[in-house]
Amino acid sequence: MQVYLSVDLEGVAGVVHVDQTRRTGHDYERARRWMTAEASAAIAGAYDGGATAVLVNDAHGDMRNFVLEELDPRAELISGSLKPRSMVEGVATSFGVALFVGYHAGAGSRAGILDHTYYGRVVARLRVGGREWNETALNAAACGELGVPVGLVTGDATACAQARAHLGDVATVVVKDAITRYAARAVHPTVACERIRAGARAAVERARAGGLSPFRPAPPFDLEIDFVNAACADAAELVPHTRRVDGLTCAYRAPDAATLLQVIQAWTILAGTTMV
Ligand SMILES: [Zn+2]
Repeated sequence: MQVYLSVDLEGVAGVVHVDQTRRTGHDYERARRWMTAEASAAIAGAYDGGATAVLVNDAHGDMRNFVLEELDPRAELISGSLKPRSMVEGVATSFGVALFVGYHAGAGSRAGILDHTYYGRVVARLRVGGREWNETALNAAACGELGVPVGLVTGDATACAQARAHLGDVATVVVKDAITRYAARAVHPTVACERIRAGARAAVERARAGGLSPFRPAPPFDLEIDFVNAACADAAELVPHTRRVDGLTCAYRAPDAATLLQVIQAWTILAGTTMV
């Protein structure tokens, strides 16, 4: 079974602040190694569970975070940006299961470490069909429409609770408990990796036994983003077929989840150009 792995950074054990997640941050060089270690743990667990191949996608920031020589060499890697499917670039019908590691709570959450949805500087809230959606839900839908179920989500307790709320009985591994947006109680990185490895193994075994269902909400997807200011919405509105709801909010009806991801990226990239 081919296994797809998407890895973000905010939900990695020990990460609590942007000083660890931005390339220019003082602690970034250490945090990217923790991210690499958690990815390698998931790769090892996938092979423990019977994977025949693993494709890992760097899904954070500029998407060039892994310390390559420390990544489990059995996986192939997608790195860099821009990517049409962004955090789930490369997923395809040939994969039997997707694993999301280092994931975080959606924009506007309480007690979610570094909560945001795609581009935190410009997106205040994001909804699909009137309900708040986070990156887990968006990416799971993009996997789901290709028939690929999500077998594991790891991150803080809030991210994991949101994953279960959206996806149903998906397995989760909690590596930290957020106290506030910038504070958490966490297990040691080594313990986090042990749990992620076991979780990945169980997820792949369950997928191989046919015990997982893809996340397949019915299209179309009615997207709404509340931007942080009107200039962001002014820029997003330039995307054809965007509907301006009010000063801060833009709407779009996407026929499928892949389009949803493309519109979110187009809007947020344009919105980001207005930031002063
Ligand atoms: Zn991230």
